[in-house]
Amino acid sequence: MSRNHKGSLIRPVPLPESASAPVVTPLSPSVVYSSDTPDALDAQYEGRVHGYTYAREGHPNADVVARRMDALEGYENGIVLGSGMAAVSAVLLGLLNTGDHVVGGNQLYGRSLRLMAEDLPRMGITTTLADPGDIAAVKAAIRPETKMILVEVVSNPTLRLADIEGIATLARDKGLLFVVDNTFTTPRGFRPVDWGADIVIQSLTKLLAGHSDVTLGYVAAKDPGLNDRMRVFAVTTGMTPSPFDCWLAERGMLTFDLRFDRAQSTARLLADHLAALPGVKQVLYPGRTDHPDHARATTLLGDRSGNMVSFELKGGRAEANAFTRAAQGLSFAPTLGDVGTTLSHPASSSHRALTPEGRAALGISEGFFRVSVGLEDPDALLGVFSTAVAEATGQG
Ligand SMILES: *Cc1c(COP(=O)(O)O)cnc(C)c1O
Repeated sequence: MSRNHKGSLIRPVPLPESASAPVVTPLSPSVVYSSDTPDALDAQYEGRVHGYTYAREGHPNADVVARRMDALEGYENGIVLGSGMAAVSAVLLGLLNTGDHVVGGNQLYGRSLRLMAEDLPRMGITTTLADPGDIAAVKAAIRPETKMILVEVVSNPTLRLADIEGIATLARDKGLLFVVDNTFTTPRGFRPVDWGADIVIQSLTKLLAGHSDVTLGYVAAKDPGLNDRMRVFAVTTGMTPSPFDCWLAERGMLTFDLRFDRAQSTARLLADHLAALPGVKQVLYPGRTDHPDHARATTLLGDRSGNMVSFELKGGRAEANAFTRAAQGLSFAPTLGDVGTTLSHPASSSHRALTPEGRAALGISEGFFRVSVGLEDPDALLGVFSTAVAEATGQG
């Protein structure tokens, strides 16, 4: 007999029996799980049977999302965590030791850069940033104590391509862990596992969940021992995701492929459309032949250039302000991967901490915008950009 049925005591009334099963994953917000006997608990802790004990250690909704992510990325036993940054932290803080050195891409996500610049050094872990598009620079950054190289495939916001093949070879030759943050590219655009990455990181907050209502991350290593170390570190430091966030993310993931394909096809149209507008100085889209890394983009991404388009408006801050005001119906918000198109202005947001000279070195002027293309009707979206560029620059 189950211990769970206790008449008038508080917990719990058993679920009604049903010969049929729900088609949607049930939401399981329970923090604690009860067992029948201490022996049953032993069996669980000793791994003879599978079971949950306490939600910080794991729960069904996180595991369901993790198995879906494993299938998409091609890894096994990946871990779902409370945010993309939790995944980055699980890799850097969970795997590196005092005295280790890590090489990072010089245009990584802002918080990843901060973690490397501010937090790792406190723990005696040193870092060097290098342009991941320049294999000689990456090679030059490696020291005897280097343990890891962390890169993103497509840089933010200039959409330059990392030399993934060169870095994978270098990491293999030197025995370094090769880590890829695949958030921008998504597993539909790029599969790090096929290019020799030892570890993949994903912020599900962006395209995978896709509706800007969930903060969630995923990390997976090829080596089961590394996975275990990250899992224990994440449980100890409390990086656990909320069951409801996992539930929402799974719901979003069901339409991920369709959303990616639609957003990408519109992004391609938008890139070509912007390039033809007199008020636009420059367009950056990996799928266009005028992109500085077009050949590498073709090798790495094929025709999956993604949903991100960057462009430079003619003029400065005044024109940029006029553009965001005129871009009716688009959210001016520094995120990406939402169902709606969002505009980001790096000079006033993600890259505001840099000096104007530092931004100029990366190619980010006051007129520079990054667009995360959403699911709007393509003609309507192109029309909004035409109107806003014309109003802001006086050049139709
Ligand atoms: C957003 C983002 C992250 C961080 O993800 P959160 O879920 O916001 O913590 C990490 N890397 C990249 C490339 C991102 O775009």
